[in-house]
Amino acid sequence: MIYKIALDGPSGAGKSTLAKNIASALNIVYVDTGALYRSVGLYMQKNSILPENTQGVIAALPKVKLQMKFLDGTQHIYLCGEDVKDSIRTPEISMYASKVSAIPEVRTFLLNTQRDIAKTTSVIMDGRDIGTVIFPDADVKIFLTASLEARARRRTEELAQKGINEPYEKVLAEMKERDSNDSTRKVAPAVAAKDAILLDNSDFSLEQTFQAALSIIKSRLAL
Ligand code: C5P
Repeated sequence: MIYKIALDGPSGAGKSTLAKNIASALNIVYVDTGALYRSVGLYMQKNSILPENTQGVIAALPKVKLQMKFLDGTQHIYLCGEDVKDSIRTPEISMYASKVSAIPEVRTFLLNTQRDIAKTTSVIMDGRDIGTVIFPDADVKIFLTASLEARARRRTEELAQKGINEPYEKVLAEMKERDSNDSTRKVAPAVAAKDAILLDNSDFSLEQTFQAALSIIKSRLAL
């Protein structure tokens, strides 16, 4: 049986950790769609095209050569032939991604890359519009959320582990701005699908979040 699990929610809710753990428990593929938007953002930043320059971004899209590969179950994105690795994880590229993702042409550009992967294999895909736009027919839809403060605290710790020391207040302010960009944009705003199950993990540990999601998935898929 091939199935699709859509995992949406705001930045810092812990989607990627949860999706990784679920993918390894169920032996399915984890697709991080934010990395695609980040890679488009990285291309613009490298080529000095500001993300607010909508026409400039659209004009550059045909030159953005993206390839997604899975090596030992881990997603790698190649931008014009080069593995982007952690260069897409900086706060600057987070903001680029958030801004370019509001451009409808960018979303259309990435649509098939996301849909194609799920044709041949079961996936858990994390993003903002997986349950609403990419896979309205997903077998399970979870909208993972947490309070702004909990998300900013976690993101500050995550950045620190990567050697990026950003003050909590700055992370909080940037997250607030990204939340507002993502949820108020005209195309594919980050909102829960009507048939998504809401999971608020503000007071949950990683393990509690994992167990809650796994039981939702198992009951939906009748595993
Ligand atoms: O999930 P992540 O924080 O890596 O995503 C980076 C940005 O890409 C988000 O702030 C959001 O604006 C955008 N995004 C999106 N749709 C997705 C995934 C990410 O618009 N499916």
